[in-house]
Amino acid sequence: MGEDLERLKQRIPLLEYLQRHNWTARRVGAQPEFVGLCPLHQETRPSFYVNARKNLFYCHGCGRGGDLIRFVELLLDLPFRQSVAHLEQELAPSAPASELLQQTATFYQLQLHRHPQAIRYLEQRGLRDPALIEELGLGYAPGANLRRHLAALSYSFDRLLQVGLINSQGRDAFCRRVIFPCRQHGQTINLYGRSIGTAFPHRLWPRSKGGLFAWESVRHFSPVILVEGLFDLAALWQAGFRNTTCAIGTHLTPTQLAQLGDRSGRSVYLVFDQDENHAGQTASGQLARRLEGAGVSVRIASLPFGHDPNSYFVAGATAADFAACLHQARSL
Ligand SMILES: [Zn+2]
Repeated sequence: MGEDLERLKQRIPLLEYLQRHNWTARRVGAQPEFVGLCPLHQETRPSFYVNARKNLFYCHGCGRGGDLIRFVELLLDLPFRQSVAHLEQELAPSAPASELLQQTATFYQLQLHRHPQAIRYLEQRGLRDPALIEELGLGYAPGANLRRHLAALSYSFDRLLQVGLINSQGRDAFCRRVIFPCRQHGQTINLYGRSIGTAFPHRLWPRSKGGLFAWESVRHFSPVILVEGLFDLAALWQAGFRNTTCAIGTHLTPTQLAQLGDRSGRSVYLVFDQDENHAGQTASGQLARRLEGAGVSVRIASLPFGHDPNSYFVAGATAADFAACLHQARSL
């Protein structure tokens, strides 16, 4: 039991769990320590501290502290055993959930070729290589037929609702989205859906985003190229930059940070969006400092203003143009 608990806590670091639940924090001092508003009591000034190395929290406001399981006990008002069960079920990509996600991804993959609007969308984003579309397992969720398909495979309505694949009206949660399955160790652990219509563009199934995208095939490269979005990754893979990975956003989980630092001497190119509000540039700088702190050598590449890697290729850039951007990348 004790060993299992240690493994559970290692698999779901406290900081990552909190961030997944939208806890925002700033780093304090040289220690891997973070402070933010306490999720357990009402406060206006941050007094909730997390030590990422020790995997412990303490709140100076309400005087409570402990490990991840203690946090779940307090947050959800559950007894110890139920808290452990809750974590196991909610966060660990359990085999049945992974199977269900894989069934869903396979179904969406078949739908892609039956919906010309989805193929047109991929073309607009510059994705034309059928072999790459197949390799990435890209799919399309038209919106109202997943439930029937999975019911035939004896998944109940309640189960699909509970895991968030359909809404209470029985429609697909990923309705009218191009789907990228996120895989890890041969299992589908999450789905990312990009809206092709007017809905909010990005949707990630509310579970762990897992490690870096396709890390198993990218990890043996140095340098590695890190981009924000999966369409950026697809464009770069299509142009031959197979050493590209993606964190789905500019925020890296501790797991993803650890992956980039998993071998000595690795260098990383950050190629984030060049946007007007400088969000991408600010994120690059912050991430570069964190990575340098972890012993990774970082270069920040700048694309022409207003571009991300995907739009850059759509606008006609070639692999040589992109290589030139990498060549001009600067260190901190
Ligand atoms: Zn508190």
